[in-house]
Amino acid sequence: MALRDFFIALSENRTLNSAAQKYGLKMGAQSVVAGTNIQETIASIKELNKQGISCTVDNLGEFVYEKSEATAAKEQILEVIKAIHENGVDAHISLKPSQLGLDIERDFCYQNLKEIVALADEYNIFVNFDMENYDRLHPSFELMEELNEEHKNVGTVIQAYFHESDENIEKYKNYRLRIVKGAYKEPANIAYQDKAEIDQKFIELIEYHLLNGKFTSIATHDHNVIDHVKQFVKVNNIPNDKFEFQMLYGFRKDMQLQLAKEGYNFCTYVPFGRDWYGYFMRRLAERPQNLTLVTKQVFTK
Ligand code: FAD
Repeated sequence: MALRDFFIALSENRTLNSAAQKYGLKMGAQSVVAGTNIQETIASIKELNKQGISCTVDNLGEFVYEKSEATAAKEQILEVIKAIHENGVDAHISLKPSQLGLDIERDFCYQNLKEIVALADEYNIFVNFDMENYDRLHPSFELMEELNEEHKNVGTVIQAYFHESDENIEKYKNYRLRIVKGAYKEPANIAYQDKAEIDQKFIELIEYHLLNGKFTSIATHDHNVIDHVKQFVKVNNIPNDKFEFQMLYGFRKDMQLQLAKEGYNFCTYVPFGRDWYGYFMRRLAERPQNLTLVTKQVFTK
């Protein structure tokens, strides 16, 4: 089994996930998770804001199969929205429909999402629908579209590894979009497996949406892609207020600061909460070198 598959399999292990919750932010996760509660997270956001970096906040959570858990997640996200508003920080919300009941009952999930999107809209806060595995792709797009009928503060993610990503970006071209390579393990009949092919598609999608003129979030730690985008926006006279770079909290911190200093809009994805395990394992799957973050944390205590 490849190392990537190994970590993805671990990320999907529910027993390990609940065990991890009991032990707090151990195993090095504290370097990539901003805190376990809202207060700690707002403090982290304030620090980033001071350096000219905006944030997108993700209340971590996976494997939600009980309505009570989805309701608790919704309440927590509503609290985050209030905290962003009350503290006047530069931040928006990233959420995963599965955490709000997508795998339980569609209408229940819709109602949870609606409450979140409506409150965020009241405070002029954007809500991004993160994209998960393929089974949840179309149900998530559809929920976002439905909510968009009443609330314009929603947008989503296009994952470059899907063969259908060209059609999806065309369909959702009027939305604010985050473009990513794609983080889950998907079969070859629906997703590219070859890194070079995924990278190529990623660039094409970014260019397409930038030329479209709608706001584009380029979410990557890949310096080659970032350098390419810098050139592309220059040649095509795309103003800085039409796009931003995004990276995950704790990754390539120097580059995050450097991009902000260079005058680009920069947004850090700030995950927080007790349910950090699946998120952390997917980061190890993407880049086993991230294990050095783990060992550093373990040995420098
Ligand atoms: P990779 O392909 O992992 O790396 C390319 C190259 O960049 C590497 O070979 C290396 O040279 C360099 N590099 C990468 N990381 C580092 C590092 N830490 N230090 C030094 N060099 C490095 N996926 C989804 O499926 N759905 C989502 O909703 C989603 N949201 C995301 C939001 C954000 C803000 C980000 C950053 C990612 C998100 N992802 C999401 C994950 C994404 O799909 C990729 O799996 C992940 O970003 C890894 O790909 P990459 O583009 O960062 O570069």
